[in-house]
Amino acid sequence: MRIFISLWILIVLFLYFPIKPSEGELTMSIEEIARKKAHHGSDGRFLNPWCKDCRKSFTDFLNWVIFSKNVYKEEKKKEVKFDVVTPDFSKLNEVSKDYVVWLGHSTVLMRIGGKFIITDPVLWDINFLLKRKTPFPIEPEKLPHVDYVLISHGHYDHLDTKSIKFLKERFNPYFISGPGYEDYFSSIGISKYIALDWWDEYKIGDIKITSLPVQHWSKRSLFDTDKMLWCSFLIEHGGIKYYWVGDSGYYEGYKEIGEKFGPIDVLFVPVGAYEPRWFMKTYHVNPEEALQVARDVRAKNFIPIHWGTFDLTDEPLWLPIKHLKEIYRDESNPKLRVLEHGGYFIPNL
Ligand SMILES: [Zn+2]
Repeated sequence: MRIFISLWILIVLFLYFPIKPSEGELTMSIEEIARKKAHHGSDGRFLNPWCKDCRKSFTDFLNWVIFSKNVYKEEKKKEVKFDVVTPDFSKLNEVSKDYVVWLGHSTVLMRIGGKFIITDPVLWDINFLLKRKTPFPIEPEKLPHVDYVLISHGHYDHLDTKSIKFLKERFNPYFISGPGYEDYFSSIGISKYIALDWWDEYKIGDIKITSLPVQHWSKRSLFDTDKMLWCSFLIEHGGIKYYWVGDSGYYEGYKEIGEKFGPIDVLFVPVGAYEPRWFMKTYHVNPEEALQVARDVRAKNFIPIHWGTFDLTDEPLWLPIKHLKEIYRDESNPKLRVLEHGGYFIPNL
């Protein structure tokens, strides 16, 4: 039992505990930060230059995992089940319009301009301790041909090696992420890899992908803290803008993204893994903040992701989406589009 507890603490440590000290203040726009590469630290690590006192101490971490009382402890014991629908890709592909399918957590499959793009693919359990609470909606073998894989950051619930290898073997797609993943991809034999630093653009025919800043961090092992940059991606095609955010805390940069790139037609923002707030707020938005992001970027359609799939933090799995629905007021912009696991959305119908 003790070994399981130690392993769990280690996994959580890798997922959530940064070891660097605090960073500077926002003195320029996030575009300037990106263009001047102010997020590149002199020690080869990346940082959120606007985020003062972002970092939690080791004492904070211990306070969370060992000493703090989870106020949701009893509620988490209740069994929860979410609806899962198996996407019918042959039927979806008959429609000439682009579509997006949410496959749980941060995994979204998009058909845009005839290309298939999948985000942060996690097709199975993360490991034997972090198992799916809601099944992957389709057998991975039945996924349509994937052309591009977008990776938001290196945390294990977003960059899953088993899924990456599966996609590589099956479809040999291009992998797109921020800088800092070269060693990772080459270690598993991937050479079709495109690194997009913040504000970099990449064009696939008439599809444009832009990497944009988020407030997050990265860690996969003891010594690689913040060596893989965290990004969100804007995908534009045929006059429609899709903006997908992997993990992020709330920060003022979303207003600037809204001014420069909005309105966004289809927005994906995480709404789960945010309690306790005193520890999680810096790097994980809660439903209120996710809605604020949607308003900031002037989203027309807001699809909440990162809920109901993996149990990573203190709040019960059912809470994020329930709370989001409660606080959402019937607004025309953004329209809240809550998808089932496996559910689809066609933007311009
Ligand atoms: Zn993360």
